[in-house]
Amino acid sequence: MINKQLVSPKSIVVVGASNDVCKPGGKILKNLIDGNFSGNLYAINLKEDLVQGIKSYKDINKLPNVDLAVIAIAAKYCPATVDFLVNNKTTKAFIIISAGFGEENEQGAKYEQQIVDTINKVNGCLIGPNCIGVLNTNYNGIFTTPIPKLSPKGVDLISGSGATAVFIMETALPKGLTFNSVYSVGNSAQMGVEEVLQYLDQTYNPETSSQVKLLYIEDISKPQKLLKHASSLINKGCKIAAIKSGSSEAGSRAASSHTGALASPDVAVDALFRKAGIVRCYGREELVTVASIFKHKQLTGKNIALITHAGGPAVMLTDSLSKGGLNIPHIHGEKANQLLEKLYDGSSVANPIDFLATGTAQQLADIIDYCENDFDNIDAMVVIFGSPGLTKVFDVYEVLHQKMKTCKKPIYPVLPSTFETKEEIFAFQNQGHQSFNDEVILGDMLCKVFNTPKPQNDNIELIDIDTKKIREIVENAGTGYISPKNIQALFDAVGIPRTKEAVAKTKNEAVVYAKELGLPVVMKVIGPVHKSDVGGVVLNVKTEKMVELQFEQMMQIKDTTSILIQPMLSGIEIYAGAKKEGEFGHQILCGLGGIFIEVFKDVSSALAPVSHNEAMEMIKSLKSYKIIEGTRGKEGINEQMFADVVVRLSALVKAAPEIIEMDINPLLGTATKIIAVDARIRL
Ligand code: ADP
Ligand code: MG
Repeated sequence: MINKQLVSPKSIVVVGASNDVCKPGGKILKNLIDGNFSGNLYAINLKEDLVQGIKSYKDINKLPNVDLAVIAIAAKYCPATVDFLVNNKTTKAFIIISAGFGEENEQGAKYEQQIVDTINKVNGCLIGPNCIGVLNTNYNGIFTTPIPKLSPKGVDLISGSGATAVFIMETALPKGLTFNSVYSVGNSAQMGVEEVLQYLDQTYNPETSSQVKLLYIEDISKPQKLLKHASSLINKGCKIAAIKSGSSEAGSRAASSHTGALASPDVAVDALFRKAGIVRCYGREELVTVASIFKHKQLTGKNIALITHAGGPAVMLTDSLSKGGLNIPHIHGEKANQLLEKLYDGSSVANPIDFLATGTAQQLADIIDYCENDFDNIDAMVVIFGSPGLTKVFDVYEVLHQKMKTCKKPIYPVLPSTFETKEEIFAFQNQGHQSFNDEVILGDMLCKVFNTPKPQNDNIELIDIDTKKIREIVENAGTGYISPKNIQALFDAVGIPRTKEAVAKTKNEAVVYAKELGLPVVMKVIGPVHKSDVGGVVLNVKTEKMVELQFEQMMQIKDTTSILIQPMLSGIEIYAGAKKEGEFGHQILCGLGGIFIEVFKDVSSALAPVSHNEAMEMIKSLKSYKIIEGTRGKEGINEQMFADVVVRLSALVKAAPEIIEMDINPLLGTATKIIAVDARIRL
């Protein structure tokens, strides 16, 4: 576990400390010195008594007891060093920045394991190996620069990649973003992103803890842990944004069902983030922009006022916000006219509020006051204000500073002249503000933040299913695709409504069943997996004679063992499916069915277990939702019943985790009922 020796050590030793600040062991010592670490700082260098002015021990035996060891020596010397420190110097926390471990070869992996075992024995903590280290308000334990401004109100960054952590800090600096802590977990031999997040969750204090967490993850090895602690933190009032890179590998997978093809591991990441309430980003600029948005007052509504002295950026921002579902409402009426009076001729207050290139600081103050106090249809303001180089804009940014302090509505400052108004931006940020330099990235990210759902409650409603029966069927069904009979039995046990059907092995049986079920009927081959592709589905068979004829013909189709007979039903074709995604558990999907799913691939997904509310959200977020609702006089389908099928599907895979993938395609839905007519389940 992360411990107090790591977070706030009383003493630190740098093993492999150097006078050469171009070496990791030299730079990390320099950073610790520059950061004015207030505890005892020691060095181990086999040749020196003093390294960068810090006492160095040639003989490690002479080293006093020490809380935290930062190790920058060759991998092969690390296990013995750790062992010595643990057993002789009461050291409980380690940061190993050296590489040459599991990421390199088998021998390295052995060293890594040895070190973890040693540290675990004393319940100690290990960050790395193969990382840049740890940085917090107590000490600068990283061997890289820049060192950002540190403050308890800054953000916490946990990164699976050291270099990326450095570049995220580079991106953050010009925005005025400060940091509370940075953890670079490297090989995550003992502590990974999930464990650090767990620690931040368990030690969270609403008064003193940072409320913004940023994650860079290449591999989610413990998705359930991530989900648990991310949603817990967000429920406590935190905000989390994350990059999960490596999303394209999934596409190449061969899959035998619709669900298999649609539900990639990356869709599972999306589903996990949605369930946890994490804002998903795809690059550093996005991540840092979202973090800066998080640092502003909460956006509580969709209506944004754009305030600018430059038309173009406001138009681009309007496009971006509208595309993402936020509004730029028209501003008019008596108050608007009053405001217009205060501006120069040619200004506009209709929104965007354009107060021209000659606009003054006082005019900006007036505009903000009207938006804050008089325009009820405004929830937030974006102020875009740069300089074409004719005048300084300190007075304008001072107005921004004052108004951002006092206004209840969030004000997002876009300061585009990052070169020309460098000094003014610096002064503005030094007052504790974050600013944005690109209005479109801000617009896109504002929409993203606004549209990210709250964490899903894990209170899943209990529904009536026959678990005993489900287990019995699954345990006796073998592996691979299961028979229509077993599917029927599973659906009945879990309460998914299905069509009546019968399996005919002879022509006579076919006629008898067709009469029982009621003509017209549908006839389908049993054997081939994709029935339509081999001409194995015949709809609307109206007479006994036709049943006989079709039976004879269909039995000739390759791999056909018998014929399934169903009544001919009508309704809108919908789809629901599930797929197991390793440690993530099952993904549940739904959408329109039949050919829609193949052509438009319009599905929504969620991680099981899915609540009724979540299922309703899934349905409503479909692009084809209008069809489900009913459109242009055409009756839709019963959404509550559709959601119920999705919830029951989720309950089925919980009771039968052996299900690797399954799809029900289609279910035929009307305003009064939903009935499954085709399903595949693979165990
Ligand atoms: P497959 O998916 O193997 O091609 P399906 O059983 O899904 O076979 O049938 C293909 C299509 O036939 C369905 O998408 C649906 O349009 C239609 N269909 C299947 N069963 C029925 C039924 N009982 N009533 C009405 N239409 C059906
Ligand atoms: Mg089908």
